[in-house]
Amino acid sequence: MIHEFNMPPRPGMILMYDGQAYEFKRVEFYTRKSNGRETMLLVWDSRCPECGASFQTATPFKIRSLTRRCEKHRARGKRIAPKKTVTQRRKK
Ligand SMILES: [Zn+2]
Repeated sequence: MIHEFNMPPRPGMILMYDGQAYEFKRVEFYTRKSNGRETMLLVWDSRCPECGASFQTATPFKIRSLTRRCEKHRARGKRIAPKKTVTQRRKK
């Protein structure tokens, strides 16, 4: 669990997650197809750590996971790699 909100935060509130900033934008309502119930989502603005492009992501009030990257760099289950991966091997 990353964070749990009891009520929507104020627009402009910054949520920091693992060094990445998420700015709260607005509440969005959506209707679940499975039971027709209306649910509230929190919409966040952040920047892709790979290319710096801003993107939006929506979460429920109970945030279990956050999208880290823009659509272009998003890949399911993929972790963010360090900017430079240097593999060094010693010559014998
Ligand atoms: Zn990107």
